[in-house]
Amino acid sequence: MKLDPDLTLQILEKVGIYSSHFSVSEPQILLTTKEVLDAPKEKTEGRRTSAYKYYGVSYLQHNLVFINVRKIPDEKTLENTIVHELIHMRFPYLAHGKRFNKLVRQGLGGKTFPPYRKRSKIASI
Ligand SMILES: [Zn+2]
Repeated sequence: MKLDPDLTLQILEKVGIYSSHFSVSEPQILLTTKEVLDAPKEKTEGRRTSAYKYYGVSYLQHNLVFINVRKIPDEKTLENTIVHELIHMRFPYLAHGKRFNKLVRQGLGGKTFPPYRKRSKIASI
């Protein structure tokens, strides 16, 4: 898709809406590979020069998301990518798979999720 100010606004709006649905703090969004390369290296480590290959990349440690608008063919894929990346933010322990895909579908369907809480490592009786 071609990035223009209208589309940028649309994307940021969707990110805002789904972030609130998923109870995650709104991530910083990068929309071009140039922005990925310009971002501080320590933030994008591991998926910097390879980011262009993907529809989206979540840099979980830094609350940073790359949406590869140029590679994304249509609006449906765009929405799917936004939700996919935000599901990573909300369920940081979850790998890709059936459960992950189900959560993406539910997210797209408007489902809301309470905030993520790390399980306490301290057991008490
Ligand atoms: Zn993913």
